[in-house]
Amino acid sequence: MTFRLGWEEWVSLPDLGLPALKAKVDTGARTSALHAFDIEPFGPANAPRVRFAIHPIPGREDLVIPCSAKIVDRREVISSNGDMEYRFVIRSDIAIGDRRWPVEMTLTDRGQMAYRMLIGRQALTPDMIVSPLDSFLQPTLGYEIYSSAAVRTDAPRRSLRIAVLSREESAYSTLRIVEEGEARGHVVEVLDTTRLYMAITTAEPAVFYDGKRLARYDAVIPRIGVSVTSYGTAILRQFEAMGTFVLNPADGIMASRDKLHAHQLLARHRLPMPTTAVASSPRDTEDLIELGGGAPLVLKLLESTQGKGVVLAETSKAAASVITAFRGLKAEFLVQEFVKEAAGEDVRALVIGGKVVAAMRRTARAGEFRSNLHLGGTAEAVKLKPAERDIATRAARAFRLGLAGVDMLRSAHGPKILEVNSSPGFEGIEAATDRNIAELVYLEIERRVRPAPARRKKS
Ligand code: ADP
Repeated sequence: MTFRLGWEEWVSLPDLGLPALKAKVDTGARTSALHAFDIEPFGPANAPRVRFAIHPIPGREDLVIPCSAKIVDRREVISSNGDMEYRFVIRSDIAIGDRRWPVEMTLTDRGQMAYRMLIGRQALTPDMIVSPLDSFLQPTLGYEIYSSAAVRTDAPRRSLRIAVLSREESAYSTLRIVEEGEARGHVVEVLDTTRLYMAITTAEPAVFYDGKRLARYDAVIPRIGVSVTSYGTAILRQFEAMGTFVLNPADGIMASRDKLHAHQLLARHRLPMPTTAVASSPRDTEDLIELGGGAPLVLKLLESTQGKGVVLAETSKAAASVITAFRGLKAEFLVQEFVKEAAGEDVRALVIGGKVVAAMRRTARAGEFRSNLHLGGTAEAVKLKPAERDIATRAARAFRLGLAGVDMLRSAHGPKILEVNSSPGFEGIEAATDRNIAELVYLEIERRVRPAPARRKKS
């Protein structure tokens, strides 16, 4: 059966998230070409990729579809005006009518062309016949599909450009984020937070990496280590200023990392937590012990992570000695009521996009009251009580975190929040609950990062 094509046809490039384009079929040209802009290679040398953007509708500069593809070749091409151009070649399926087949095409930015795609003779299979005098011999499509509703539901999911700010490319959570994002067709790049730099100007905020200005990202997933919180959040604010969707904004990360600030924020939102007291002067030690509810007491270094700076003082005397020792080291700390009935156990709720998506109970190893997995605790899935669910989501909202790990103790008077973590690890909770956390992160990002330009309809 022959397949007849006119000199112009509607095509779709499903691999690139382009549901409808008008293409010119030109048997005088050998190679096919896609008119793109912001063409930029990236990725590892052994698997190079290219990202680019397309205005699918001629005259609608406000509609931009970002795309990405594997580079299959680089080629010198003589363009129609006789100039030599160096172009990237990609391969994508093309669909016309009821046919779908893979086609190689070069990417070129040659200003405004009436046809976003040119189909050369190399793209045609032997059973195809082109009638140079006919138009649209195959079914026509329309640009309506780019209107917001259509793009979000019927059209292929568009590929997003996502940056993960992390210094640990091989950490489990980072690997999962990259793996899951790529499986969903997104371009995910891990950027070392400390190697990013910026020009702080009002006119045009930008972020740089390796001597180059970064192009626009659709979303940023911060996985900023505690040691680089200050610089990392400054970089994040820059992305926020550029209008990029940031899963966990700078303010929430800062507040969650500062134990005092975090407790104050929780208190302001009337979220339950263990009674907590702080003082700066050594003269107030006794008062402090009393404010914490008297012995036994938990003392925590403000810098503590993974339970390393958390001490249980069984008596007031022991508490006073530890406080004196902390002060001698000029370490900042807080004093907290010991929730005895919860000793050795806490609950982590993972909140994504305002919903608890997974929860686990961590149990300390024998003889230990701290249930941190790093200290040998074990984890298992747990079903949360409504009150726990409620305060976990409220806590994430108080910090405005799109992704948060909320740690709670189950006290005799209901749940009490210990901590809100803005870079919760995926390994323990994915293993304990068998949920695909990375996928849930993308569902949230895809929900939040709309094809924005399509919403601003001009005509
Ligand atoms: P870090 O941030 O260093 O992990 P946490 O405040 O989360 O410190 O405390 C570590 C662990 O110690 C908790 O997971 C919990 O098991 C235990 N713990 C902390 N505070 C209390 C408390 N007030 N009462 C009982 N157990 C506590």
